[in-house]
Order: sequence, then structure tokens, then C-alpha cells
Amino acid sequence: MKTFDRLYIGGKWIKPCGDGVIDVIDSGTEEAMGRIPQGVEADAENAIDAARVAFESWSATPPQARGEYLAKIAAALKSRTDELADLIAGEVGMPIKLARAIQVGAPIHNWNAYAKLAGEFPFEEKVGNSLVVREPVGVVAAITPWNYPLHQITLKVAAALAAGCTVVLKPSEIAPLNAFVLAEAIDEAGLPAGVFNLVSGYGPVVGEVMASHPLVDMVSFTGSTRAGKRVSELAAATVKRVALELGGKSASIVLDDADFPAAIKATVNACFLNSGQTCSAHTRLVVPEARYEEARGIAKQVAESFVPGDPRSETTRLGPLASSAQVARVRGYVQRGIDEGAELVTGGVERPEGLARGFFVKPTVFGKVHPKATIAQEEIFGPVLSILTYKDEDEAVRIANDSLYGLGGAVWSGDESRALAVARRVRTGQVDINGGTWNAAAPFGGFKQSGHGRENGKYGLEEFLEYKSMQLRMPRPA
Ligand code: NAD
Repeated sequence: MKTFDRLYIGGKWIKPCGDGVIDVIDSGTEEAMGRIPQGVEADAENAIDAARVAFESWSATPPQARGEYLAKIAAALKSRTDELADLIAGEVGMPIKLARAIQVGAPIHNWNAYAKLAGEFPFEEKVGNSLVVREPVGVVAAITPWNYPLHQITLKVAAALAAGCTVVLKPSEIAPLNAFVLAEAIDEAGLPAGVFNLVSGYGPVVGEVMASHPLVDMVSFTGSTRAGKRVSELAAATVKRVALELGGKSASIVLDDADFPAAIKATVNACFLNSGQTCSAHTRLVVPEARYEEARGIAKQVAESFVPGDPRSETTRLGPLASSAQVARVRGYVQRGIDEGAELVTGGVERPEGLARGFFVKPTVFGKVHPKATIAQEEIFGPVLSILTYKDEDEAVRIANDSLYGLGGAVWSGDESRALAVARRVRTGQVDINGGTWNAAAPFGGFKQSGHGRENGKYGLEEFLEYKSMQLRMPRPA
């Protein structure tokens, strides 16, 4: 049991203003694995005040020196890799081997990447008679979800600190322990007091103070579209900058000349990664009508190779969901799919055999899903794949774009230029061509109701910068 009873505010571990606590539940055992403070409004206000005070000197700290602090934070995190992977495997349910690489390895990579970028980024340029400088936007409120908790925190906090902003972080109440370890790493790295502050608690209490407080300049939010809309409303009253990374319903389009086994295997893998709890998961497999049976057979076989198991076992490929609420949500959608007449190819609503405890669901594939069916339109956030069919390329693109969301996607074809032409017609922030892999330097973010703003690499840094242009008097011609 990992217990934290203090909040990190103004460079110190401070007793919270209220006495509430939140238990963190282990996804594999359904037992409490940790406890954190349930922050209240006054805690959020104190943290914002501390960030405001620290802004003046942090924003004036040379970017290279800021980067040196970030590198120290990366090193402190690296030394705690196994502890962090174990915590996140329990909090989220991602199998430990994957958690070590993705949930911990990627954040360490990104802390180092922002450390480097801080020293290299061109913060100013001359444009005609103007000196154009890029200045930090100010105090940033970072509100994050539970599915890739340390990664989502890192893309906000490391980028904002590199830009010269100060930060108040409210991590998800479902997976917050890793954020406390990060705060310890930040403390160990000696970051000046108030530059980073951590307040745990619930969104409608702590999060809403952060989204509406007049001393906050920007809210960077990752989470559900529902909460993102609320954050935007609150932030509008003081005209804050808002960046939103929200939900998705991404389509993987398999064209008729694609390598079907490779395309379908990769799509199932991308759908089931982290038990489907991935905002950019490829949850709609879009295949030619004439090749449906073939696609269905491959998808069934690949899906059935995912056997749910203990997230802390090194050999598990599919862990549990993060919470009992997630189980209810995912089973509800599976039932809805059956009720609306989709073909249940594999899986279903029952608890997987042999697992008496833990938030487990069966990996599920639906076939012949109508494009307007609930399971084709709504984000399920579980290991549930929908196969949809198309008659021609135009219809494939129409199906992919028939969504409120626009986050990710894939196109598969034997001809890369054909795949690229289709990818250009897909209205989403990312499209993977023939299994092209994740690029931490490329922009990540959504079109439509998947949000606005971009994270990752220099694009993520630019989110936290304002432009200022200073017009210089040109020398008179002699
Ligand atoms: P959520 O919206 O319930 O919670 C996200 C965060 O917002 C939490 O810290 C929560 O406490 C806070 N919050 C909730 N209500 C709030 C309010 N009224 N005001 C301020 N803050 C509030 O989402 P979740 O269940 O933690 O995460 C899952 C969702 O996140 C999915 O929809 C997923 O697609 C999305 N997501 C998107 C991305 C992306 O980059 N686009 C990445 C990961 C997750």
C-alpha cells in the first residue's frame, strides 16, 4: 500500500486543507493499492498562487538551464523505472512488460527530449524590422486522465516547463500514484519552489478551480470530451488559452490491395493495446465487402490469441481494465452491440474464464457493424473491435470520416502513394500508413471533437508559447 498524505505546493510537501482521502484500487486484485489526499478548492488556490509567484524568475531562467533541470528529472525517474511500472500496471491494468516500455520508457524519453529541445528551440527571430520572440504563456493548469497517466502528464509538464511556464498538475484520481513519484523526482532534481505543483482530487472540485481561476493563463486538458467541454466553458470567462486532447473512434482502412494478414493483425493489436484504453486506438476495422469473411477470420484468430491475465506477470499481453466503472461501461457497449444486431465474432459480456477477481472483460470482435450503430460511433475504451465493410474507396473514406471524432487512424495498401492519397482524405490528426510506427517528435492531437492543440516534440512546446513582436526603428538611409 503506497500512501501519500501531502500535496506538493511551493516546493514543499504540504498538509492538505481538507481531510478527505481517495483510495487507489488495483485493477488486477480489486483491492486498495494506495491512498492520496482528496484536495479541496483552497489547495488548488494555494498551488496556483505558488505557481504565479514562481513564474517571474522561471520564465527569465535561460532555456538551457531549464533544460538541465528537465534532464535531472528524467534521470530521477529512470532510477525508479521498476517501481513506476509496477504502480501503473496496478493502477491502469497494462501488462508490466508493456508498462515498463510504454508507460515509463516513453515519459523518460520525453523528459529528455524536452530537456534537449529547451536548449535548441529558436525562441526568437527577426522578421523585417521586428524582433519576434516566443514567451511562455504563464501559469498552466494541467489536468490529466488515467490511461497513460505519466505519459500524458509528461507531455504537458515537461513541455510547459521547457517553455518557461509554471505548472499546477491535477492527475486523474484513478491513477495518481505515479504523479506523486514524479513530484518526488522533481523535488530531488531541485526545481525551484513553485515551478511545479501537485494537487490531487476530483475534477469537479480541484479541476474546476484550476479551469476557472483568474491567475491561470492556460488550461491543458486531456480526458473525455464531456469534461473537456466543461473545462472550455469555465476557461472562457477569463479568456484562457485552452488545449484539449479528447476521445477518439479511429478507423483502420484496409484497401483491396493490402497485405490482409499484416493489416488486420496490426489493427487488432492497436485496438487491444492497454485493453483498448487508448484514445487513438484503431477501434473500427474498415474492409472491402467482398473480403469480409477473410478479414473476419483473421481478426477472430488474432483476437483469441489475447488471453486476459495478471498485469504483473511478464508474459501477460492483455490486462484488466482500470476500474469497475470501466467494466460496466465496456460490458454495456458489448450488450448494445449484440442488441443492435451486429455479428458477435468472438468475446461477449461474460467475465473471462479462470479469473475470479480483477477488472477483466473478454476481448471482443463484432462483424458487419452498421456505420451508424452505437458501437461504431461511440468511444468504448475497452478491447472491442468493430468490423465495417465498404463497396469502394469513396465509401471507405466516408465511413472513416463519419464520426464526431478525428484523432487517429490507419490506411493499408500495397501501393504507398494510394494509401497516402486516401490518408489525406481522412479528417484526423494522425494516420499510420502500412503500420508506420509511433513518432514521439510528430504532432499528436485531434480534429473535430477529439480536441484542439497538439502535443509531442516542438509542436507540444509551441502550445505553451505566446508570440511577442518588437518593432525596431530602421536606420535611416545615409
Ligand atoms: P475524464 O474526462 O473523466 O477525466 C480526465 C481528467 O479530468 C481527470 O483528471 C478528471 O478528474 C478531470 N475532470 C473530470 N471532470 C472535470 C471537470 N468538470 N472539470 C475539470 N476537470 C475534470 O477522462 P478519463 O476517464 O480520465 O480518461 C478517458 C478519456 O480520456 C477518454 O475519453 C480518452 O479518449 C481520453 N483521452 C484522450 C487522449 C488524447 O490525447 N486525445 C489521451 C488519453 C485519453
